[in-house]
Amino acid sequence: MPELFIGGKWTAALDGQVREIRCPADGTLVATVDEAGPKDAAAAIAAARDAFDRGPWPHTAAADRGRVLLRVAGLLERDKDAFARAESLDTGKRLVESEYDMDDIANCFRYFGNLTAAGGEDRIVDTGNPEVDSRVVHEPVGVCTLITPWNYPLLQTAWKVAPALGAGNTFVLKPSELTPHTCIMLMRLLTEAGVPAGAANLILGAGPTAGAPLSEDPRVDMVSFTGGLVTGRRIMAAAAPTVKKVALELGGKNPNIVFEDADFDAAVDYAVMAIFLHSGQVCSAGARLLVQDDLHDRFVDAVVAQAKEIRLGGPFDQNARTGPLISAQHRDKVEAYVAAGLAEGAVLRCGGKRPDDPALQDGFYYLPTVLDECAPGMSVVRDESFGPVLTVERFHDEEEAVALANDTVYGLTGAVWSQDVGRAHRVASRVRAGTVWINDFHPYVPQAEWGGMKQSGFGRELGPAGLAEYQEAKHIWRNLSPRPQRWFS
Ligand code: NAD
Repeated sequence: MPELFIGGKWTAALDGQVREIRCPADGTLVATVDEAGPKDAAAAIAAARDAFDRGPWPHTAAADRGRVLLRVAGLLERDKDAFARAESLDTGKRLVESEYDMDDIANCFRYFGNLTAAGGEDRIVDTGNPEVDSRVVHEPVGVCTLITPWNYPLLQTAWKVAPALGAGNTFVLKPSELTPHTCIMLMRLLTEAGVPAGAANLILGAGPTAGAPLSEDPRVDMVSFTGGLVTGRRIMAAAAPTVKKVALELGGKNPNIVFEDADFDAAVDYAVMAIFLHSGQVCSAGARLLVQDDLHDRFVDAVVAQAKEIRLGGPFDQNARTGPLISAQHRDKVEAYVAAGLAEGAVLRCGGKRPDDPALQDGFYYLPTVLDECAPGMSVVRDESFGPVLTVERFHDEEEAVALANDTVYGLTGAVWSQDVGRAHRVASRVRAGTVWINDFHPYVPQAEWGGMKQSGFGRELGPAGLAEYQEAKHIWRNLSPRPQRWFS
């Protein structure tokens, strides 16, 4: 069965191209899927445009759109096992992590389903003039293109698809070319839940060929992108000539700040999880550990001891605690950052190489790595390596902790560990990031906005702002007693 979904029909790529999807845990062939090119992208945009301009979805009552999203949530729960398995085969991540993701995804659809159904965004404006009826209504933006990455393929997609549909938009989705399967499956569920033909379209393929038209085409009103900084810049530039609305969820180089009065055991445990979860391939990963001087040696020793114990393995290995990197190319990039860090003076405390285990040689594994005595200028500290690489820097006091934390072009997340409530809040309020955790790391809920400051992007996903992102506010002013005004006489 072909895998592109355009105008309510499953279609093959127009020029017959296909791509092999291989599991990064062992290189086995998962499937061969259609590979879209610019012509397929254009066809999908045309279908979404037609569905927006002439189809029923934008004019479907918000309560009914909300009900469709709630049905999607239920269908995802019904098919959770199949979705989780497919996600793990594409990404190599542990099955249990994919299962958590599927629960989060169903919750995301449920949240936006309820938010949409509740309506309530429109408001009557008191102009002070009794002869005027003035109201602000919220309308869909139009045709949205949604471009998503490989690390949380369906989760990042759900954060866009659910609010885009909830607000009444039509869309063309292009997931990462490396991890298409759960997005293919989602299209089937959207149809089953009642999303009409043309409102939801899917193309698969590489960024420069299938993705680029999605930010250039004048028929597109908005492009919402999650991915790397360099791609984000390209998309913003490509969208500029037609002044599209742009939302960017980009990378992070997130500080995890540990003060000497932190709860030691909890802070160590979370510092390890913050960076090594999904082998560091998490935009919010706590990749920069900032530790107060007096605590440094004891704390880093404990982190290293735990990091050395992390067992690597494939998605279905019950004993594994994290999986492979997504590709050979990505592992090469991570290795290059570690090599650069060592050349610049970092001290290798553990990892720094591929595992020796013969059972792991067919996958793209890399050992959890801790680099101590790092400094702000190093490329491994500055750039997002997006791998299992923790850099450690020391700080003396609150002021220096904040300065180091903010010494980055990114601003996605950060964390502060301290039992001094005042200090924790002071520091949290000064860290320039879209999410800051106090004595925690990584949790999020669909009710709270997610997004970046600085070069981590702009716009927000999740929360009420996540729905507003896909809406235009329109002011409708009605003169209740029109009569000549005689301005010019
Ligand atoms: P990427 O930028 O390489 O690719 C992301 C998507 O963009 C893919 O679908 C890709 O095919 C597409 N793409 C590439 N070039 C394009 C172009 N010229 N035009 C249109 N589309 C194009 O990112 P990735 O490697 O897939 O994902 C990892 C990155 O995503 C990391 O930087 C990570 O921090 C970021 N990320 C951010 C968040 C967040 O919430 N801020 C969440 C997850 C991932």
